[in-house]
Amino acid sequence: MSKVEGEIIRAAQELEDEDAILTPWADKQYQDASDGMVNVEIDEQIIIDPAEAAMITDEVEPNEFIHYDVNLNKRTCGCAHWQHYRIACKHAILVWEKYQEQLAERNGARMEADAYVEARARFAVGDKPYFLAQVFIEAANDLKTNRINIKLPCESTYVFDVNKYPPKPLPKSSARAGAAARESVRERTSGGHE
Ligand SMILES: [Zn+2]
Repeated sequence: MSKVEGEIIRAAQELEDEDAILTPWADKQYQDASDGMVNVEIDEQIIIDPAEAAMITDEVEPNEFIHYDVNLNKRTCGCAHWQHYRIACKHAILVWEKYQEQLAERNGARMEADAYVEARARFAVGDKPYFLAQVFIEAANDLKTNRINIKLPCESTYVFDVNKYPPKPLPKSSARAGAAARESVRERTSGGHE
């Protein structure tokens, strides 16, 4: 086993032990967005329709405000961060939270805390396999048991860094991808990038 492979398997074990939902790179982007939410506000009266733009207000400097439109279905925000990184920005997460709140009010039932945390993290990365820890762990397990040359949910095993998984999509038709990754890629890959 090469040094890189050993490192990948160890990193996967860590993610598993921590019950991680996201890979470290995705998690870092997501945490930054969550932390930034303190400066973002949304009109209390607004009714969120995921198919329509919802406006938020971002206090970029003290008393300096910028408005952005967030569309949950299209996964777009006026700040362009969401489209660029494919991980929800602070504005999008706030709109999602507001929407969940309104859904819960309508349905009369709230998600359990654990389910909410997972749903929010999955929303943030759009359920993209290359951002999800589970896919990474499965790929590393395949590597351990089959010793096959799998494509991991990060750019390349050669530039593998446990703290930085670049936001590169898996190739569309990677014959060597692990079965689970292949499944979810087929389902999810929409093309149109790079
Ligand atoms: Zn934004």
